[in-house]
Amino acid sequence: MKNLINRNTGLLLRIDDVAENMSWKYMDKCEKLFEQLKIKPLVGIIPENKDPDLLRFPKNDNFWNRVSAWKKNGWEISMHGFNHVYDTTTKFKDFFKYGGPSEFFGHDYNHQHKKIKLGLDKLKSEGYIVKSFFAPNHTYDLNTFLALKNNGVEVIIDGYGLFPYFEKNLTFIPQLFYKETLMLPFGFQSTQIHMNNWDDENFKRFKEFLIKIKLKILCYNEMVSTKSDSKVKKILRELSKFALINLRKLTN
Ligand SMILES: [Zn+2]
Repeated sequence: MKNLINRNTGLLLRIDDVAENMSWKYMDKCEKLFEQLKIKPLVGIIPENKDPDLLRFPKNDNFWNRVSAWKKNGWEISMHGFNHVYDTTTKFKDFFKYGGPSEFFGHDYNHQHKKIKLGLDKLKSEGYIVKSFFAPNHTYDLNTFLALKNNGVEVIIDGYGLFPYFEKNLTFIPQLFYKETLMLPFGFQSTQIHMNNWDDENFKRFKEFLIKIKLKILCYNEMVSTKSDSKVKKILRELSKFALINLRKLTN
């Protein structure tokens, strides 16, 4: 039983909101920590960051060299939205029922396709063929998935359940908790790490968490290869979706 659990437990570190303007203090610290612990995270780059909250941070003119060094170290380069500006509201009608504002939800297919293409083209011009994506605020509709697929994206770092799964012609890696230092004792999932809101105490707790669970951390390719779609896993996914949607409504 213990072996079965060990074989079926893993965490991918998803770093959100990576852009020229971000909290480089904590990114520098994390970079050193990941190197020390031999951890390969996935970084969600905002290709054309226009988010006023992020633009308050100083710009790093060396940004693309940093990305290049991450790639060389085996980090996965992913795309996180296009400009990270919310201009629609979902009223809980978004695909995962997160609610809240969105960069993509509710826009027509052509609008979404164009934004995704512009973002991927920008990353390509810097040398990165990106195949994975996650939307700001977890908010998608069916046009988002279609536009992603038609732009060559294959993997979404969002979704419910305990195992990566295939749906809408895309692979989904579950992302369940807001807190970065939480992990279920069973199943495969991704974190979301928002270091732009951190203070030293957050970093300390994150470091302790990583040291404790480092054997469970998988890189992106390892995580994608765990994809499966058995009936039991589908049922677990529906259950976790139901539980988390209701939990979120209670705590909002
Ligand atoms: Zn974000």
